[in-house]
Amino acid sequence: MAEVTAICRFCHATCGMVATLEDGRVTRLIGDIDNPMYAGYSCVKGRNYHAFHESPSRLRTPLRRRSDGGFESASSAAVLDEIAVRTRDILDRHGPRSVAMYGGTFSHFCPAGVMLRESFMDAIGSPMRFSNATIDQPGKPISMALHGKWGAGPQDFADADVCMLIGANPLVSMWGGIPSFNPAKRLHEARQRGLKLIVIDPRRTESARKADLHLQCLPGQDVPLLAAMLNVIITEGLCDRAFIEAETEGFGALAAAVAPFTPERVAPRAGIEAGSIIEAARMFARAQRGNVTSGTGPSMAPHGVLMDYLVLALNTVCGRWIKAGERMPNRGVLFRQFSGVARAEKPRAATGFGEALRVRGLTDTAAGLPTAALAEEILTPGEGQVKALFVVGGNPLLSWPNQAKTRRALESLELLVVVDPVLSETARHAHYVIGPRFGFESPAITFGNEGITVYGLSLGYPEPFAQYQPQLIEPPAGSDVLEDWRIFYELGRRMGYPLAFRGQPFDMSTPPTTDGLLSQFVARSRVPLEEIKRHPHGAVFPDPKPCAEPRDAEWPHRLQLAAPVMIAELHGIAAQKSEAPAPAGPVMGGEGSALRLLLVSRREHALYNSVAHDLPALRRRLPHNPAHLNPQDAARLGIVDGAIVEIESAVGGIRAVAHLAPDVREGVVSIAHGFAGACTAALIDDATDYEALSGLPRMSALPVTVRPAAATPTTA
Ligand code: SF4
Repeated sequence: MAEVTAICRFCHATCGMVATLEDGRVTRLIGDIDNPMYAGYSCVKGRNYHAFHESPSRLRTPLRRRSDGGFESASSAAVLDEIAVRTRDILDRHGPRSVAMYGGTFSHFCPAGVMLRESFMDAIGSPMRFSNATIDQPGKPISMALHGKWGAGPQDFADADVCMLIGANPLVSMWGGIPSFNPAKRLHEARQRGLKLIVIDPRRTESARKADLHLQCLPGQDVPLLAAMLNVIITEGLCDRAFIEAETEGFGALAAAVAPFTPERVAPRAGIEAGSIIEAARMFARAQRGNVTSGTGPSMAPHGVLMDYLVLALNTVCGRWIKAGERMPNRGVLFRQFSGVARAEKPRAATGFGEALRVRGLTDTAAGLPTAALAEEILTPGEGQVKALFVVGGNPLLSWPNQAKTRRALESLELLVVVDPVLSETARHAHYVIGPRFGFESPAITFGNEGITVYGLSLGYPEPFAQYQPQLIEPPAGSDVLEDWRIFYELGRRMGYPLAFRGQPFDMSTPPTTDGLLSQFVARSRVPLEEIKRHPHGAVFPDPKPCAEPRDAEWPHRLQLAAPVMIAELHGIAAQKSEAPAPAGPVMGGEGSALRLLLVSRREHALYNSVAHDLPALRRRLPHNPAHLNPQDAARLGIVDGAIVEIESAVGGIRAVAHLAPDVREGVVSIAHGFAGACTAALIDDATDYEALSGLPRMSALPVTVRPAAATPTTA
């Protein structure tokens, strides 16, 4: 028996753990108290991660679809031979665009896999690369491109005296506003030193319960609410005028665009008091340091890009960026995330570049190609139609909007290859399923928390921390599983393509090692990987240049407070005649029969997207995906806790177990995305109600009808 340090890869937080090894297996996982970033923190998912390795549902060998529709086991060599032949045939008949790639959340935890799958797509010449980034929070990178990135980064939580969260619940989601490395402890310490916490959320979340001010607004009203706060801050002169004058453009146009959004006008549509909007604006702006950030729910609601743009604008008018001479908490260890110069960086395109999709007028974006349109790309005949799809570490049938359309699309493909540890809902439609090595069967680095800075205001680690973990265990005896990267290396080799990364060709006769690929991936890191490896608990690697430098006087770029497309959208919302929110109330026969509610997304402690729902320890905690309802709404429906309800939208219906939750605002139903049973993807209309820049459909603040379940099943 031995105890070794490890990196949890169940979620993006990548906590430092201690693993007990016995007979080549991990038998216990606990938080690593000696890890300087996490200090022993872990959650129930991470402490049960090792069970995933040996789960009975894990695929030990690749599967190939038989002609009768069932699956049979086959060797990895055989399925790779067949996939290479079939991919080559599709490329020959339909061209490079006919082969698409989708990388889900889990695919990004393996940088070597990212390298080889990008190399493979480069080699075949296909631009059709999609990821979960465009169905999660695409508004963050797109709005950042419109607004501009600040080269010294956002102000740090560690010395903030205010933090405002818009629809973010970092105490559960490990994301947004509060560093996701033992966030409850960090928040507690910050509040001890006087930090004020403002939370805007239709639910009294775990984070909202700690707030000094909670605005329990109606869902989908974040844009008017943020505009009203900006209006208060501007009209009351609470801005950082010096910063605005020196570093921004468009302040006047922004001020004019938010002027119609008075607190008195916004309050009824947001379902809160005008005074609380004013109080939140003053509390935020009168503080000296600290940011406002947003979470997944507002990003998935209508006007998600504009919402994130206003979040950036709110920070900018209050000057909440690190100025020249101030200490930067973390410029990156494995990557250089910030230039370290206090300036607006050179602008990058937000949308309108790269591959144009054949549907909905969508293009490539700063967040990537819009995944929400991929099902329709697959189903739309004509030149460029997608005929083959590789899915790595994702579960489109549960996560892409419009489940029925996604199912039709997956079933129509000539070739569907899924790389997944289990026979997921998506994999059941595949022609080939390949189980990967994962978790402790591969070496790891904490690159994800540095890469996550693409999501708007995130700093990743609040200090220059990094960790490496060597491979700890082998896959189960007798299994035939492959590293993600090996799959695409082998396909490239079989198809005769030379693969390369950053212009450096791979040796196509001798496969690389995962360790070698990781070294190549971080070859430009500030601290050499070999040095990071010398610190098994991870370490903070002090930056020799910790303070932001001033910009050149002639530097031409400024932060953009009035990107034309955003200002036009804001004017459009201001001009809307009806300011009433989506109706919430009884339908079809009145009291006791059905209610119109707004559905919002949420995170659950024992759930991470569509991953590992069947692990016994997690299943015990969350056997199903409850629909959380306010008790008053439940009374109107005539149901009790545990009753089955039907939830219907314009495109589909699901059943869920009702959970009576006083923390949910009346008129709202709160339910997690990506669960196999009550799957909200079935409720989402992908093609008629979507954000024009990102293509993201309305996935939160979604009007639904909720009723007690009838005897007959619903459509999904
Ligand atoms: S928060 Fe939990 S699941 Fe996520 S990395 Fe940490 S221990 Fe793992």
